[in-house]
Amino acid sequence: MPELNAAQTGAPKKKRKYGYWIFLGIVLLILGVQYLLAHIRRVCDWYLDRVTPKLSEGIGGLMSKIPAPVCEITEIAAAVFCAVLVILLILLIFLRKRRGYRRFVGFCVKLTLAVALIAVISEPIYSAVGINSTVLGRADYSAQAHDLDDLVALWNYWVRQGNQMMHDADRDENGHLILRSDDEIRAGLEQAAQRLSGEYPRLGLPVPNAKTSVVSQLVAGLNMSAYYIEPWRELVFTVNTKSRTRFMSVYAHEYSHFCGYHREDEANYLGLLLCLESDDPNIRYAGWLDVRNYIWSAVEKAYFGDAEPDDEDPDYIAFCNATEEFDDYPLLLGDMTGNYKLYHRERGEENPEDNRVANPELVSSDKAKALIEKAGQKRSESVRAELGAHYYDGVVQFMLDDFASRYRAPAESKEE
Ligand SMILES: [Zn+2]
Repeated sequence: MPELNAAQTGAPKKKRKYGYWIFLGIVLLILGVQYLLAHIRRVCDWYLDRVTPKLSEGIGGLMSKIPAPVCEITEIAAAVFCAVLVILLILLIFLRKRRGYRRFVGFCVKLTLAVALIAVISEPIYSAVGINSTVLGRADYSAQAHDLDDLVALWNYWVRQGNQMMHDADRDENGHLILRSDDEIRAGLEQAAQRLSGEYPRLGLPVPNAKTSVVSQLVAGLNMSAYYIEPWRELVFTVNTKSRTRFMSVYAHEYSHFCGYHREDEANYLGLLLCLESDDPNIRYAGWLDVRNYIWSAVEKAYFGDAEPDDEDPDYIAFCNATEEFDDYPLLLGDMTGNYKLYHRERGEENPEDNRVANPELVSSDKAKALIEKAGQKRSESVRAELGAHYYDGVVQFMLDDFASRYRAPAESKEE
């Protein structure tokens, strides 16, 4: 299209300006309608039940064939593109008389704006749909109120089951948990998903490949073990998941997101159920270990609030009397972290060399490390503020509601 100079521009220029306003109006209208729709429970459920499976199977299936995380490569490319664009815009000061160059820069700016626009328009789908849909996709679910006794009974049930699973787990000659391959984990989760799909129909999807982050140490420094990201529908993992159990439970958690359970409490709970339904004792154990800290924190908080207990504190004494002990705490710790030094030291044994423990070093420079950690802390706080009741520890509420028959039964038989 030929460009018009100032003398020719009267009417067409006005028309063009008007066009931009119409365009902006349409964008705002689309955003507004989307925003409204994303707050209607039925629409959100419909999207997650009907649209998500097709997108996850289609796009996720395709992405699963590519070993590298396309989302990260795209983001890195976009960052490089933006940096180049800034340079191009600066150069425009000197090269503004060259029409070809001006057009090229104009095209780059339009392209950037178009991509940014698509990102903004699709935002409500990712941020609002999961939060405003029916909890766990179950119309019959409603949160129950529980007292301290329930919480302690759940904790004690967790300890008893954990003790059992600790001994049932598959170990090598040094007592270390035997790691599972990605294929074995996928098979275990797929089998569990089939079993659970009656109660949670969204869980029927094939389990996608696990990808390793290309900036793993950086992402781990931002307090993320792994993430699932749309629209790419990829499951990306960092060095933080390289312990013997963490990878399996986080895999189950991210797979729940992939299936359309966006909230963190839902993904934690379904991740747990997926692990527990697996035939593999190490996957079951991994899921069980993953919820330990959430239950433990809830029990502690119920007893002490935010105060630090001391040995004389009557609450502390009641707490010690009420809560059960682990059979083999150093082994349990080793299973959670992959570091079995304490376990072997308690037995007077030398700790056999363990090459499968992840390198905890995140970044080489102390300054860079401190900076990333600070950013990670900030990120955690903002995520918590944003998610509120849907934070990760909400898994305890679901366990209290759904596991009542399990944790109540042994406690009552004990009283008899
Ligand atoms: Zn998550």
